Amino acid sequence: MSSLVFLDPAYPAGRLADINAPQLPVTLQGVNRGDGVFESMLYTQQAVRKIEAHLARLAVSAEASDLPIPDERSWRAAVDTAVADFDATGGAEEAVVKLVAMRGELDQDPAVCWVTVTPAPRVGMEQRETGVDVLFLDRGYDSKLAERAPWLLMGAKTLSYAVNMAALRYARKHGAHEVIFTSADGVVLEAPTATVLLAQRDGETRRLLTPMLETGILPGTTQSAIFDAAQQDGWELGYGPLRPEDLYQADGVWLVSSVRLLTPVRTLDAKPIRMDAELHEQLSALADSIR
Ligand code: PLP
Repeated sequence: MSSLVFLDPAYPAGRLADINAPQLPVTLQGVNRGDGVFESMLYTQQAVRKIEAHLARLAVSAEASDLPIPDERSWRAAVDTAVADFDATGGAEEAVVKLVAMRGELDQDPAVCWVTVTPAPRVGMEQRETGVDVLFLDRGYDSKLAERAPWLLMGAKTLSYAVNMAALRYARKHGAHEVIFTSADGVVLEAPTATVLLAQRDGETRRLLTPMLETGILPGTTQSAIFDAAQQDGWELGYGPLRPEDLYQADGVWLVSSVRLLTPVRTLDAKPIRMDAELHEQLSALADSIR
């Protein structure tokens, strides 16, 4: 049902392994310190979507972490092997292809790298239709910190997602589904696993906005692909700083990510968010067309 392939110089197409069996030494720094990087991609209709953009971002995250990783060809070969095994053992309508590279036991050891393919969580697919209730939560740092402190690896997709997951659990305990982080100086950042998009309609003009990258958020590959498609479709584009009131005044707010695509926001801190049905239809079509 799910598949695992390790990148291994002795196996040019990657080494298939049993995803249900123990595989990692407990001494890896990746295991002990969360010291590593990853990507999550959508596999559907026989294609891994936006693989170039994900491999490029993996390389940037690894570089920021001083973690040498295998070249693109090795990753692509391992992905091909993993999705072929996934399809041969049952497949799924939508699946998550995850790439992981983590630091070994010693700094000079090669990174330990693998690819998994697992069925996409149903809840994310359902929330594309139902929308989500979202809480604003304070990320605890100001929107200029990323520029001052590159060692914090902000904007890199590192394995250290414990805080992001804790924020989601907090939201769920408080009756919401999702979170949008804000900075200590009140700027809208991102969701724990998604980028924020908002739309404004002004007569004939349709405008799409997203928080600016200088705030230290992850550069979203879905946001970028939607922006490219929207521009070709005649939308105006813009980059924050965005404030919570911009979201309340928008004609639609969405969380976007590779696996979940476009999820409409229904409420923010229990206050309803306007959702222009026509803009939602148009953006959904753009998100579905991303390859
Ligand atoms: N922001 C964060 C913190 C994320 O973890 C993710 C994806 O997991 C995103 C944004 C969206 O990125 P992408 O569209 O490339 O999946």
